[in-house]
Amino acid sequence: MTEFDFIRRYLMRQQSDKDVLLGIGDDAAIVRPRTGFDLCFSSDMLLAGRHFFADVAPADLAHKVLAVNISDMAAMGAQPRWALLSAALPKLDEAWLQAFCDGLFGLAGQFGITLIGGDTTKGDYVFNITIAGELPQGQALRRDAAEAGDDIWVSGRIGLAAAALNHHWQTLVLPEAVHTLCEPARLRPMPRVALGQALLTVAHAAQDISDGLAQDIGHILKASGVGAEIFADRLPTLPILRTLLPQARLYDYLLAGGDDYELVFTAPEQQRDAVLAAGRAADTPVTRIGRVFAGEGLRILEANGKEMQLTHLGFDHFG
Ligand code: ADP
Ligand code: MG
Repeated sequence: MTEFDFIRRYLMRQQSDKDVLLGIGDDAAIVRPRTGFDLCFSSDMLLAGRHFFADVAPADLAHKVLAVNISDMAAMGAQPRWALLSAALPKLDEAWLQAFCDGLFGLAGQFGITLIGGDTTKGDYVFNITIAGELPQGQALRRDAAEAGDDIWVSGRIGLAAAALNHHWQTLVLPEAVHTLCEPARLRPMPRVALGQALLTVAHAAQDISDGLAQDIGHILKASGVGAEIFADRLPTLPILRTLLPQARLYDYLLAGGDDYELVFTAPEQQRDAVLAAGRAADTPVTRIGRVFAGEGLRILEANGKEMQLTHLGFDHFG
């Protein structure tokens, strides 16, 4: 199979989107955003070894590389619409490519995303997706928009992907039933697109949790020039993890585990009911975990009000 067979047989299989004026096959793609919307872009890369294991199922891998990009759109409150895929592959293995494309187009279809182009080259596995979405003009959930007095909220449950990853590394042994509950969070995260959009006129700042809650909230605080406190006992997770794991480990997974792809966001206190309504509209649980204050730094408070000392805050590629 040649590169061109791969593109024709595997990649050009989506129904056309009327806003894609020119898709895969020409030198470049052309799209037309709807009137009243700004275009919003993001790009995320996965490298064999650093981000995934060479033995991961190709459908899961494709799901993940697209999901992490969709999650960036969710964190802005954008509607993801178009994607470009650049892939380095050591060989064109039909069964592998079929499974990869099933994972990719499966998730793309769920979110109405069209693959409009990319690049294919020979090399050790590298996958990069560039995604474009639409944002109602002038609205976006930016990192620099948190204000003193805001509540801090998180979607869904966190720490599950970290627990599953540690189980995979054999640095933790989860009972089979618990592992079954955590593994989908590691392999098939579902980005919170509906919630991000429902929060557009409700929340101030938002960010998705990829490197760990503490580090990712830190980005909001720094960009907004504010400080925050988080109530550790309110962090939403799988309840059994609270009883299974020693405290230090539990909070390491919750605060620094990463790969959650949940949203952490701030909203004014007067918007509490609106935030809960947005969560219901998006069919996504939301939990209030802390508050923003004028000042700087992140304080994690235990139930007794004592400040928790964190040894490390999350993943840093160059750390
Ligand atoms: P060019 O020579 O202009 O770079 P290519 O031969 O690389 O074009 O690609 C031909 C077409 O196939 C282009 O429309 C390109 O966007 C698309 N394409 C190539 N690789 C991929 C990929 N991995 N995913 C999606 N589209 C791809
Ligand atoms: Mg090219």
